[in-house]
Amino acid sequence: LYTSLMRHEKMETVSHFAAAVSHELRNPLQSIKGFVQLMQEYEYPRSKQLEFQQTILNEINAAENLIDDYLVYAKPAYDELKPIEVEPELLHVIKIMSPYAKARDVEFFVRTDHLPSKILGDSQKLHQALVNIIRNGIEAMPTGGKLDIELENSSQSVCVLITDEGTGMTKEEVKRLGEPYFSNKSKGTGLGLMVTYSIIHQMGGDISVDSEVGMGTKFTLEFPKLPE
Ligand code: ADP
Ligand code: MG
Repeated sequence: LYTSLMRHEKMETVSHFAAAVSHELRNPLQSIKGFVQLMQEYEYPRSKQLEFQQTILNEINAAENLIDDYLVYAKPAYDELKPIEVEPELLHVIKIMSPYAKARDVEFFVRTDHLPSKILGDSQKLHQALVNIIRNGIEAMPTGGKLDIELENSSQSVCVLITDEGTGMTKEEVKRLGEPYFSNKSKGTGLGLMVTYSIIHQMGGDISVDSEVGMGTKFTLEFPKLPE
């Protein structure tokens, strides 16, 4: 009861979020503007110019991260849900995340029972939720490793299990997942899982986390299954 209450409160924070995010976007945009103006005003030596350009690129990346995590909120929460198949959506996300994994020496191990996996949802939002969890899994393994991605069906539900062998989390950290701005990363937004929790709940699903420091983390998503 305690956990579901907490999650509900977190979701209410989400609805007040657009203003906060546009505020956050102003920071990188302002600093990009500043550096471009600097370079227009004065003929800096090449090395200085390269340094400014790198700063600009970093700021663009920061803005991009923010947009990536938040994007789905451009869509209203009360958007109509439709019957969708989880398997093709999951395979699509695995495909688009592959370059990111490869660049970080992470190998995907994908298992699916190939059974019908129809749920009531929104494919774009489901993509966003899966991308955020898979990206965190990859980022939790700074020296590479394997990421297990499983699709499991039962008569009542469709489950997606995403297991990494990364840094893991303490109990306290697990409790804070989904809280806006909770991030242990130097360039993290702490918005990814907030968005993810909200999406999963909007689709009538549930999310649970098992983690052990130094061992890894397993995210389990469970959705009510639609009859064929
Ligand atoms: P961000 O990735 O921008 O930090 P998230 O909301 O996606 O924000 O994640 C919040 C925090 O939760 C991360 O900074 C990290 O500390 C922790 N976390 C999430 N997923 C994992 C994971 N698979 N392994 C270890 N820590 C994780
Ligand atoms: Mg993240």
